Amino acid sequence: MLTLFPWQEGVWRGLPDNRTLAHALLISGPQGIGKTVFAHRLGMRLICEQGQACGVCRSCVFAGKGDHPDILVIKAEEGKAEITVDHARALNAFLALTPHLAERRVSIIEAADQLNRSAANALLKTLEEPPAESFVLLVSHAPARLLPTIRSRCQQISLPKPSRSLALGYLKARGVDQADAALKIAHGAPLSAEGLPKDALSTAFRLLETLEHLVRGVLDAATAGEGWQALDLAYGLSLFTDILADIVRLATVGALSEPFPGDWETRLRRLASQLDLQQLFTLWDEVLELHGLADAPLDRRLIWDKLFLRFEQLRAQ
Ligand SMILES: [Zn+2]
Repeated sequence: MLTLFPWQEGVWRGLPDNRTLAHALLISGPQGIGKTVFAHRLGMRLICEQGQACGVCRSCVFAGKGDHPDILVIKAEEGKAEITVDHARALNAFLALTPHLAERRVSIIEAADQLNRSAANALLKTLEEPPAESFVLLVSHAPARLLPTIRSRCQQISLPKPSRSLALGYLKARGVDQADAALKIAHGAPLSAEGLPKDALSTAFRLLETLEHLVRGVLDAATAGEGWQALDLAYGLSLFTDILADIVRLATVGALSEPFPGDWETRLRRLASQLDLQQLFTLWDEVLELHGLADAPLDRRLIWDKLFLRFEQLRAQ
């Protein structure tokens, strides 16, 4: 759990040492690249008897098991989307105590963008006057959602997406099938790629086939919608958006940004030639808006029916 990913080593080496590190750090970057692991590793470094996340001292062994008395992890409760003021108060109380084992106390806030308003305000008090030898590590893929006053009190650590070759090397070592395709579907984020459902690639091709049938007029939108409501909506919308993006890229730049297996590109090229691209941009905007609603209790069947109907209407006259 606490081994850095190969693409994080450069940022790790560039970190200031424990004595000059800020009391509050904001670790940001895209989803699915291992920000939380990085934060826990940094927490381990802060409580390590050697000051370096040695992995073998008593403190590191406890931290490695997620069981160190001077590290407190804060995150939204299972099934909840908010970190509440109770969590923030627990954090404040924890950091105010003297350390048990280590020289410092560390709190790690996972998905810190989920702090609700009152939790953020409570946290702000600690960030304004941090107790001696206390550290708060905030992790977020959406730092813009944090209060600006919180952001401005944090030292920023921005973790990049790995290069394609590092990501593919990682996925292959992890035994992920069709690593190229998985990485493309996951927008270059290797941990997201690793976590994709096993049928991700066939689902992508099935969606492409449905769109081809709609454009050729061998399937109508209402029939096409059958069977898609079972798919996670956020994931389905992401696949749909990717296909729209690839069509636009083929029609404008003339090539995909990354290769995709099989006859994906040939089929998309053919599809692109049959569509009204102006209208496709409008549909693209509509789908992006739906992304924001993907967690809301929407009628998935209605959404797919509508998307397929709109796609059918893209047929060039
Ligand atoms: Zn250690």
